[in-house]
Amino acid sequence: MSFPQPKTCRIDVHAGALEGASGRYQKRLIDLEGVYADTNAFARAAADQGDRIVYEVSEVRPSANPGDMTFGVTRMDPGKIGDEFFVTRGHIHSVANRPEIYVGYAGKGLMLMESPEGEIEVVEIAPGILCYVPPYWIHRSVNTGDADLVMLFSYPSDSGQDYAIIEASGGMKCRIIEDGNGHWKSVPNPSYRARSRDEVARILSSADHPFQTDRSGNSS
Ligand code: ZN
Repeated sequence: MSFPQPKTCRIDVHAGALEGASGRYQKRLIDLEGVYADTNAFARAAADQGDRIVYEVSEVRPSANPGDMTFGVTRMDPGKIGDEFFVTRGHIHSVANRPEIYVGYAGKGLMLMESPEGEIEVVEIAPGILCYVPPYWIHRSVNTGDADLVMLFSYPSDSGQDYAIIEASGGMKCRIIEDGNGHWKSVPNPSYRARSRDEVARILSSADHPFQTDRSGNSS
């Protein structure tokens, strides 16, 4: 029997990257069209600096086998669109009963979480703070600081990510904006549409039937 091999990786906090990562992706500002409330401010920013990399992920996925674990580092730029702090696109796990942890290494920010039924939890992230994202919760990172936000993350390798669920409900239920005094506050998103009972049921049964939300808001 040849067992999977142990591995160590150095977290380069300054670069916001996992050394020896086998997978990487980068999100540019233009990739986040439709995410922010202030569409005019977004259009101006995108015209100016649409190609700018606003967050990036470096990760190791030893295998995709159920029970195995994917881990990596995410680095997010500081910034705002209008008065709304920079966010990641956010997702729910396609196998929605899979959890995740995040650990802050540099900068300050938030984990914005929403249950399928629309309960909201906002957790502050800073160096040394671990955030447990429970099964079923939609999650999105927010950089509320003025420097890079760097976090370690880890989740079961068979989780999958469904990014369309947020778009299908008109965004997350809350947005994180600057309060005018250099701090953040959470405000209701007037475009938010609550999920139907059927949609919540599909999320709850996704351990057996992983789903992807299509753009009309239907899950399959
Ligand atoms: Zn996740």
